[in-house]
Amino acid sequence: MEYEAIIGMEVHVQLKTASKIYCGCSTAFGAEPNTQTCPVCLGLPGALPVLNRKAVELGLKAAVTLVCDEIVERAAFARKNYFYPDLPKGYQITQFGAPLARHGRIEIEVEGQQKEIGIRHLLIEEDAGKLIHSEGESDVSFVDFNRCGVPLLEIVSEPDLRTPAEAHAYLAALKEVIEYAGISDADMEKGQMRCEPNISVRPRGYKEFGTRTELKNLNSFRNVERAIAFEIERHIGILERGEKVEQATMLWDERAQRASPMRVKEEAHDYRYFPEPDLTAVTLGRDLAAQIRAELPELPRAKRARFVSGYGIAPEQAAVCASSPAVADYFEAVAKACGDGNEAAKWIVGVVASAVNEGKWDVNAPSVAAEKLAALIRLVADGAVSGIAARENVFPAMLERPGLEPEEAVDELGLRQMSDEARLEAVVDRVIAANPGEVVRYRRGEEKLLGYFVGQVMEETKGRANPKIVNQLLRRKLASG
Ligand code: ADP
Ligand code: MG
Ligand code: ZN
Repeated sequence: MEYEAIIGMEVHVQLKTASKIYCGCSTAFGAEPNTQTCPVCLGLPGALPVLNRKAVELGLKAAVTLVCDEIVERAAFARKNYFYPDLPKGYQITQFGAPLARHGRIEIEVEGQQKEIGIRHLLIEEDAGKLIHSEGESDVSFVDFNRCGVPLLEIVSEPDLRTPAEAHAYLAALKEVIEYAGISDADMEKGQMRCEPNISVRPRGYKEFGTRTELKNLNSFRNVERAIAFEIERHIGILERGEKVEQATMLWDERAQRASPMRVKEEAHDYRYFPEPDLTAVTLGRDLAAQIRAELPELPRAKRARFVSGYGIAPEQAAVCASSPAVADYFEAVAKACGDGNEAAKWIVGVVASAVNEGKWDVNAPSVAAEKLAALIRLVADGAVSGIAARENVFPAMLERPGLEPEEAVDELGLRQMSDEARLEAVVDRVIAANPGEVVRYRRGEEKLLGYFVGQVMEETKGRANPKIVNQLLRRKLASG
């Protein structure tokens, strides 16, 4: 029998606010444990929460970015009660029943195929603390409450995904727009983006969904893909044996590359939700959403399309050049300053992207200013330096010494290209005189020997001859005579 997987995704991202959602503590990542806490986020008796306006605004920004058809008029909060050592209050303040927004969508692309994935709802809530389990001799666990109360956006998709690759593409698309719009830094390594896929399997052609399981503890896109693939196979195995899948929460074990049941899936009523008595509902005026919509930056899809049509670059180049707002701004600054979008794109894709990958380039603080790279591109266009020397020698020197002007670098490195026709002509004449046999063969029709002559000229000039001029000179001189 053939089976089909159904996948829905629950994603949490930390909203990019300076302070927590219900108190004034800092949200900065990486501080000493338990230094960013107060009576509110520690859940001390009598402490009262105050809603962070910025968290609501970022939530609305997400609603607009993800094209939600419905934004709630009054945002209300609820208590979700459960006990866990990382939750000092004994409950989480979240939204229940009426989430911030509903019915959104996002486009994904898998193997060139576009697909729209529905967003069921968006809501805002608080994060819990972090448990650190010691590994080794002592059986101790530590808790860091710094993360308690950091604002979270929950994004729940419709069960529209069908394959691990689609799930991956969905997460990548989501991360991209969320980062782009400045909603969250969505860094998975810092736990700023976390996801929990829900998976079920049904015989192909069936209308009804199978029983689902939820996967937890996934900390990279690659693990998400692997864990989903594992879970799909596990479900199929159960169905093939004629057994029933049990609804459960599964824990992914990265080392063992397998998922095992953590607990039976909890239901909403297990949490004894009730309206949060310490926070009043906030009315979200229509104007606020409209204002946020008006201020929304250009999103990646639109940007890529504009790069392709506006600068005449290839879609693959546009994908790299628009990979983040910082890279996109840099690309545009270089393109405008040098007047050649194609050359600018080639440099971003070939040279800048590798510098980024090698950790030599911080996209938020470019080591080589856009004007300097543009000036280098113009030097190449003018024949003052060869493209190869610019890439392999001049640019690395500029990377190392951020103040260095490309002109200076070219001269310091002795790479100024010989473009003086009279001097090159003398070299060409010498080369022709020294290779009479090749000259005869060339004139008999062995035109590929041109490369040999170019090579000889390059050798004499230590690679500094302007190849364009050398080619012209050689063709002319070899043709006549
Ligand atoms: P809960 O509130 O228990 O977490 P939801 O109904 O909110 O459950 O759904 C959570 C996620 O599971 C959603 O992304 C949804 O699309 C997905 N989902 C629901 N049913 C199924 C199913 N049978 N198979 C796969 N995914 C499902
Ligand atoms: Mg849920
Ligand atoms: Zn606090």
